[in-house]
Amino acid sequence: MRAVRLESWKSEPLLTEVATPAPGPGEVLVQVGAAGACHSDLHLLHDFEPGVLPWSPPFTLGHENAGWVHTLGPGVRGLEPGQPVAVVGAWGCGRCGRCLAGLENYCEAPASAPVPGGGGGLGLDGGMADFLLVPAARHLVPLPDGLSPVLAAPLTDAGLTPYHAVRRSFGKLSPASTAVVIGVGGLGHLAVQILRATTAAHVIAVDPKETALQLAKSSGADLTLAPGPTLVDEVRAATDGHGADVVLDLVGSDSTLATAAAITRPLGDLTIVGIAGGSLPVSFFGLAYEASVQTTYWGNRSELVELLDLAARGLLSPEITTFPLDEAPEVYAGLAAGDVTGRAVVVPSHDYTP
Ligand code: NAD
Ligand code: ZN
Ligand code: ZN
Repeated sequence: MRAVRLESWKSEPLLTEVATPAPGPGEVLVQVGAAGACHSDLHLLHDFEPGVLPWSPPFTLGHENAGWVHTLGPGVRGLEPGQPVAVVGAWGCGRCGRCLAGLENYCEAPASAPVPGGGGGLGLDGGMADFLLVPAARHLVPLPDGLSPVLAAPLTDAGLTPYHAVRRSFGKLSPASTAVVIGVGGLGHLAVQILRATTAAHVIAVDPKETALQLAKSSGADLTLAPGPTLVDEVRAATDGHGADVVLDLVGSDSTLATAAAITRPLGDLTIVGIAGGSLPVSFFGLAYEASVQTTYWGNRSELVELLDLAARGLLSPEITTFPLDEAPEVYAGLAAGDVTGRAVVVPSHDYTP
């Protein structure tokens, strides 16, 4: 089968042929109907020296996947070949306290997981291929009626990650509140839509690209702003001088973190999702009183079920451009060049083939 692989650290993705995997006991082979190209893959391709991450290339890219159940390994019950499914991407050990609570993204027994802190496309073979081997049936969520793999794939990460971040701040997102989304790409435009669909907060979106700000507007942002020396004052002016109740930094550079800290109001949440590698000095007078700073990593199965339901009810409309699998290397180049609006999704096949 075809696969788009990370061959070694600090390299470009390679389209190649690999053997089609056969599912063992408890495993499921998924025919991939869609795999999203996430900015994290660019960090994975370009940023890390060998030994920094606990993974060893080569492996197939693509951690944002949906498709059809193809072949069930021995002992798998409750799924049917041809059934459309979304893949929950973080594959934990399934037995530690966090995993038992459904938080496989925060598995505390990484040595017992299929791969430490990752999943398909993050340490193990992912979905930028004709088929994806999923190590346990619990990682598959049947798609609700009306949701295709192409719509569902970006929801498993570009949707799920901001959904988790927004959901943990629900208590601070009253109708009088303001949420600021920094970075309106794959994750950010869905963050705006999720805020719209699940809260009555005022939403401000920040991005240097005009196309991204247009997408933020059509996604429901009340106000769109470009980064620059007046940004902090503009957010203050839009919030009666208070600042924002919740700031989602989907970039995570030194400059966006500095902005985020300057606009988070007392008791607010500053949530760092972007992996640009910036840092934020934390000190007594450096942040508003009782502001909380946290990072979040992905989301979990029950949140994905909720999010797929929101989308199936028509409350989310991911902005998606599709490409054939063979064009995946060019898709990543376009993402790196800033040419993608919303999410680029690679489509290995359009229909289930028994
Ligand atoms: P993307 O490339 O689709 O979008 C990034 C957006 O940020 C672009 O629109 C870009 O114009 C904008 N941007 C760049 N510099 C900016 C600035 N200074 N101020 C405001 N906006 C700016 O990326 P994506 O796939 O949405 O991913 C966003 C980030 O989230 C990446 O760092 C990615 O690695 C990370 N990520 C984290 C998790 C997690 O679990 N924590 C999950 C997925 C992605
Ligand atoms: Zn991702
Ligand atoms: Zn675990």
